Amino acid sequence: MGLSMIALRSRRVPSSADPHPAIGKLAASSPTALPASSRFVQPHPKGYCPRIADRRAAPIPKAELHLHIEGTLEPELALEVADRNRLPLPYADAAELRARYRFHNLQSFLDVYFETMAVLRTEEDFADLASGYLNRARAQGVRHAEIFFDPQAHIERGVPMATVIDGLWSVLAASEERYGISTRLIMCFLRDRSPVSAMEALESALPYRDRIVAVGLDSAEVGHPPSEFVELFDRARREGFRCVAHAGEEGPPSYIWEALDLLRVARIDHGNRCLEDPALVARLRAERVPLTVCPLSNVRLGAVGRMADHPLPEMIDAGLLVTVNSDDPAYFGGYIDDNYRLIQRDLGIDDAQLLQLAGNSFRAAFLSDAERARYLKELEEYSPAGR
Ligand SMILES: [Zn+2]
Repeated sequence: MGLSMIALRSRRVPSSADPHPAIGKLAASSPTALPASSRFVQPHPKGYCPRIADRRAAPIPKAELHLHIEGTLEPELALEVADRNRLPLPYADAAELRARYRFHNLQSFLDVYFETMAVLRTEEDFADLASGYLNRARAQGVRHAEIFFDPQAHIERGVPMATVIDGLWSVLAASEERYGISTRLIMCFLRDRSPVSAMEALESALPYRDRIVAVGLDSAEVGHPPSEFVELFDRARREGFRCVAHAGEEGPPSYIWEALDLLRVARIDHGNRCLEDPALVARLRAERVPLTVCPLSNVRLGAVGRMADHPLPEMIDAGLLVTVNSDDPAYFGGYIDDNYRLIQRDLGIDDAQLLQLAGNSFRAAFLSDAERARYLKELEEYSPAGR
């Protein structure tokens, strides 16, 4: 929706010309997702220098800045938690639940998303959710994660704010030692609920201010512009929170303008539709506003028809500060490094651009200067030029 209207320059390398036989095979068998294992090591033709995504023994060090913790609820864990809480889901097994993950827009995804997360009730459930994500994120090269959570979706089911935050925090507090991943929490408000409900959630989170770095705005975008939440974000800023907001995923460029001017956000989540407005692109570029782009999510929710049509190359060429993220990876067929691999495979993103995207992820993160410098040095040492 919207993005499909943009005239995009396809950079897809025809699979017949693809020098990597494994990639060509994957492209033929699956238009978007890598296989669950993402391990497709095959011998390379003599003299061929494989791309960094394929030859690296370890994934690129990176930060994940757009990740909904409820969107990491894998079917296996959902069924386990449902059983533990005696809230059986109407699915025989994980495969049957996963088979429901066919979406045609954001709303069709949100319906399944909210239904499945309803199994989460206890601190243990939220702790299991966090440790499940961090385990996968570690394997995908994530060194720093800024994690969204949706308190209203739990509060309205009778789960107290304390249960959600204490459960997540029981894992996040030790994530650097246990998983080698520093973390921040970002509390998102559901824009399709009332601003009053969001303000109540904000107030109930104030005792946990030291655990939450920022507030965000998510859920069904169209018809719920940022301008409805000015008072809420003003209050959040006065309370010391940084601000981010989803804008320009399905909603028009005007929502991005509003997020910048009215909510005064530090980052735009998604933001793809900025490309429809040259003046907006110029502003985002001039002010170095980071965009947290989620390629697999955009394909799975129908914002773009196929990965080869994704506007990421145009966003990079426009000089925007773009990062790549996984959004709701349990539902969209891949975690963050799977996104990195797919944009190389289908969009012609070269090694230097991939390393630039990873660097952007640290530059755009809510890190201290010392942390940022440490991670950028790690990335420099990882890159071929740094060796
Ligand atoms: Zn999102």
